[in-house]
Amino acid sequence: MANPLYDGLFGIHAGKSTPFLHLLNGQTVTHQDFLSMAAQIANVMVQIGLQPGDRVAVQVEKSPQSLALYAACAQAGLVFLPLNTAYTVDELSYFIENSGAALIVCDGQSEEALSKLAADLGVQAETLNADGSGTLMAQAQAMPSSFATVERSKDDLAAFLYTSGTTGRSKGAMLTQDNLLSNAQTLVQEWRFSEDDVLIHALPIFHTHGLFVATNITLAAGSCMIFMPKFDVDAVIAQMPRASVLMGVPTFYTRLLGDDRFTKDLTMHMRLFVSGSAPLLAETHVQFEQRTGHRILERYGMTETNMNTSNPYEGERRAGTVGFPLPGVDLKVTDPETGNALPDGEVGQIEVRGPNVFKGYWKMPEKTAAELREDGFFITGDLGRIDEDGYVHIVGRNKDLIISGGYNIYPKEIELVLDDQPGVLESAVIGVPHPDFGETVLGVIIPENGATPDTEAMMEAVRQSLARFKHPKELVVLNELPRNTMGKVQKNILRDQYQGMFT
Ligand code: ATP
Ligand code: MG
Repeated sequence: MANPLYDGLFGIHAGKSTPFLHLLNGQTVTHQDFLSMAAQIANVMVQIGLQPGDRVAVQVEKSPQSLALYAACAQAGLVFLPLNTAYTVDELSYFIENSGAALIVCDGQSEEALSKLAADLGVQAETLNADGSGTLMAQAQAMPSSFATVERSKDDLAAFLYTSGTTGRSKGAMLTQDNLLSNAQTLVQEWRFSEDDVLIHALPIFHTHGLFVATNITLAAGSCMIFMPKFDVDAVIAQMPRASVLMGVPTFYTRLLGDDRFTKDLTMHMRLFVSGSAPLLAETHVQFEQRTGHRILERYGMTETNMNTSNPYEGERRAGTVGFPLPGVDLKVTDPETGNALPDGEVGQIEVRGPNVFKGYWKMPEKTAAELREDGFFITGDLGRIDEDGYVHIVGRNKDLIISGGYNIYPKEIELVLDDQPGVLESAVIGVPHPDFGETVLGVIIPENGATPDTEAMMEAVRQSLARFKHPKELVVLNELPRNTMGKVQKNILRDQYQGMFT
């Protein structure tokens, strides 16, 4: 009997006493320990009546047990549905109701509120706490540590992953077994993963980056990970001597660069640093190389598609770009009006097609039809261009495009100029309502520590390098940009905040 995802990622490790997870308390979970735990959890879920194809909504802290719950879902043919730990009970009710989950696994702390919600919706509830205690593992411990893997095909759903909600309400992306497995296998090759690798895993596991990219690659390659509950500079620096790879969001890298203990010596033995989920500033890339001699490998992906592009392992990792389409992924830049492919160099919407692309948004047939073309291309919602050497550049999101007086303005172009000015750490350019132009440009500046940027000089620099219609009407200085848990800048929050500025 076959179950491609389980067999390809988990089953291959049956009986192995090799390390899979190194925990910060000094314990090690071997591959077989992990599989046994997953089988016990699978037995619990079957015993409480779950059927293949049922959704299991999970809002718990990161732990070996919560990762084993993912494996258990794969083995029992259930659809794993992890949820951001930051969601409140009110927000959860949307996800649970929307997904039609049959079981919710939550932290003991939210049990009271959630069990009421679960009862109202007729959903079963179990608890799993950060230390592995709770009703789920209490039952699991009494279960056999083997489980007859449920047969699945590669096109069966493996996970529902809700998007980060950066541009609006999160959408449930339906991902098949093959979406996940094919992408993991491609990335193992592209990034040269092997059994010898030790990955520092400090990302959350409710998001595609930490769950699918980091974990699935580690499993597919038979390597192991130092499994941290969250990103913590001290812990990452302390563990780095044992590691060979770090995967992170850009803020991991800026935080590490902000620490004097993060030196060339500390990183000398490292094989690879990967960044994604949000744009890595070219400046961070350059500073990182100056400090460590390593060039961060930036890649581009999303909940709906797993990973689409990557800078090369061998060859030039070009700062400010996300590299080339992965093998098997077709990528084109199209005119948003006509959908026709644009010549290289022109900015348009990025579309991708490949075995990595999801099956559609759950219960959103119209949105799915609008964004997933019949020929298999998915309109990502990101704008970008392909340079003369084939590197893909992300220019921003379609929804962040500013249309002022009939002109299209790409915020990134202005942000790059602002970022280059003395005393500027980073910037965000947004469109805000304007009575004459429909929208106008507003620049938000974040100064470097202790600096007081001269906004008049900055406006002058903008005037020198950009056409008049792109000039910000005003620059405001803030201490930091609003970001979500994945380090993504929430421009919608800025837009809301400044919407009345010119009206
Ligand atoms: P929502 O779709 O709910 O608004 P989201 O798009 O932020 O949220 P995710 O699927 O987590 O949710 O994020 C995917 C997006 O992250 C991509 O569409 C892209 O905009 C951005 N992204 C990912 N990697 C990179 C990168 N290396 N450079 C720039 N942007 C990136
Ligand atoms: Mg998105």
